[in-house]
Amino acid sequence: MDTAATRPPDSETAADALAAVVAALRDELPGDALITAEAERRAYECDGLSAYRQVPGAVALPRTRDQLLACLRLCREHGVPLIPRGAGTGLSGGALPSATGLLLSMARFNRILEIDSANRCAVVQPGVRNLAISEAAAPQGLYYAPDPSSQIACSIGGNVAENAGGVHCLKYGLTVHNVTGLELVTLDGEIIRLGGKTLDTPGLDLLALMVGSEGMLGIVTEVTVRLLPRAERTQVLMARFDEVEAAGRAVAGIIAAGLIPAGLEMMDNAAIRAAEAFVHADYPVDAAAILLCELDGTNAEVSEDVMVVRRKLLELGATEVRTARDDAERARFWAGRKAAFPAAGRISPDYYCMDGTIPRHQLGTVLQRINTLSTEHGLGVCNVFHAGDGNLHPLILYDANQPGQLETAETFGQQILELCVAVGGTVTGEHGVGVEKLDGMCAQFAAPELEQFHRLRRAFDPLGLLNPGKAIPTLARCAEFSRQHIHGGELPHPDLPRF
Ligand SMILES: Cc1cc2nc3c(=O)[nH]c(=O)nc-3n(C[C@H](O)[C@H](O)[C@H](O)COP(=O)(O)OP(=O)(O)OC[C@H]3O[C@@H](n4cnc5c(N)ncnc54)[C@H](O)[C@@H]3O)c2cc1C
Repeated sequence: MDTAATRPPDSETAADALAAVVAALRDELPGDALITAEAERRAYECDGLSAYRQVPGAVALPRTRDQLLACLRLCREHGVPLIPRGAGTGLSGGALPSATGLLLSMARFNRILEIDSANRCAVVQPGVRNLAISEAAAPQGLYYAPDPSSQIACSIGGNVAENAGGVHCLKYGLTVHNVTGLELVTLDGEIIRLGGKTLDTPGLDLLALMVGSEGMLGIVTEVTVRLLPRAERTQVLMARFDEVEAAGRAVAGIIAAGLIPAGLEMMDNAAIRAAEAFVHADYPVDAAAILLCELDGTNAEVSEDVMVVRRKLLELGATEVRTARDDAERARFWAGRKAAFPAAGRISPDYYCMDGTIPRHQLGTVLQRINTLSTEHGLGVCNVFHAGDGNLHPLILYDANQPGQLETAETFGQQILELCVAVGGTVTGEHGVGVEKLDGMCAQFAAPELEQFHRLRRAFDPLGLLNPGKAIPTLARCAEFSRQHIHGGELPHPDLPRF
């Protein structure tokens, strides 16, 4: 069970415990590493999922391992929850604070320790920004492949905790495929080193277990990542489709033909129009959908692949295929896709970004159903996603100032996740579960699997103090979810199988 999350509320005791930790930390941390003033704590009240907010009880910003160990020791002794935080760009509420907990910002662990070009890897602290790794490796002609759209800001520690993805993960893999070593500290203050610079190590694969563990098994203090050589040439094609379903079929068709583009992204009409109005990417605003397909490799490989993919796209229903004429046009094509989230923010006071994964051949069906749900709920939706991975990002448009709209957006989002599960997919592709998708986990897993997750978590953190209430729902929550959804509740789509 989720011990901290299910502990009976005793706010006075919890507040006293936090006060004791804060008092002791004043002796352990430098003055600028502990934030207690309400106005300053408020800056940490949410991550990128701003619909959920909670001002943290206190904030620690350790710079050294000893300072970090002091935070862990004191929280353990006083039973105070610890919530790790990287850059706070998470979209599932993974770094949502606790009112009686210590928010542990890892932002000051921000040094690049080594760029090892001979072994094509980098050793970095967890607060280093994702893009900063590629920038540091650029003089050696190397880069770090996983590239979340937030890469200018998000930290590698947050990427590890969420198993982050990005445009290039279709060909080069998610974070889990690009991290070869980790150092972490457990709640007990033990320092554990997993993996290293080699691609395989003996023993149980705890490295893979840590990636995606959402700050609940330990605090990541060092990360070793693979670096790849920059491709000789990169080219981008933009294909226009007059039917969304045809674009979905084309994605499945390209992969089925044995082609693995470096990136294969899709945007529907609402997303195209929003992005075009924002960054003028030269998108066809009357298209039902566009696909952006990036190909990389040697000069000869790219020339060959461009011809093959172009032919394939036209065969599969594209009504126009444009190849970027130069680097400026290539950058413009990507600018629209990369700016899709802020572009949605310009056309709606608020948006709720969902993240689910489906088998590629279901793209057309699922998009159609999302549009029907959009009409039923009276809320607009822009669809923009890593199509090659089947990773959807519907952006539900709403206005938090209109009574009831946030709740409607949440219901709509939950139905999308259930739809993903019903067609054989998953409730997250890259943003993690956090607090947002706890019900989605109930749709995805049965009690025996959830019990194993809880057991595993207790093996690392018997007190349940590390990021409590995130990622793994309690069995009681899932029992209530089943009661509402399976006995008397509505299924996401009458034609789809029960989950
Ligand atoms: C505009 C925008 C676009 C985005 N695009 C993408 C995308 O393309 N792909 C993608 O995958 N994500 C994307 N995201 C989501 C987000 O950027 C990622 O989830 C990212 O990995 C979060 O990193 P962070 O440093 O901000 O972590 P935070 O949000 O601070 O924390 C995320 C989780 O990591 C844990 N954590 C952080 N640091 C540590 C540590 N050192 N040890 C243990 N646990 C830790 C936290 O407790 C929390 O559970 C996007 C977000 C935004 C706002």
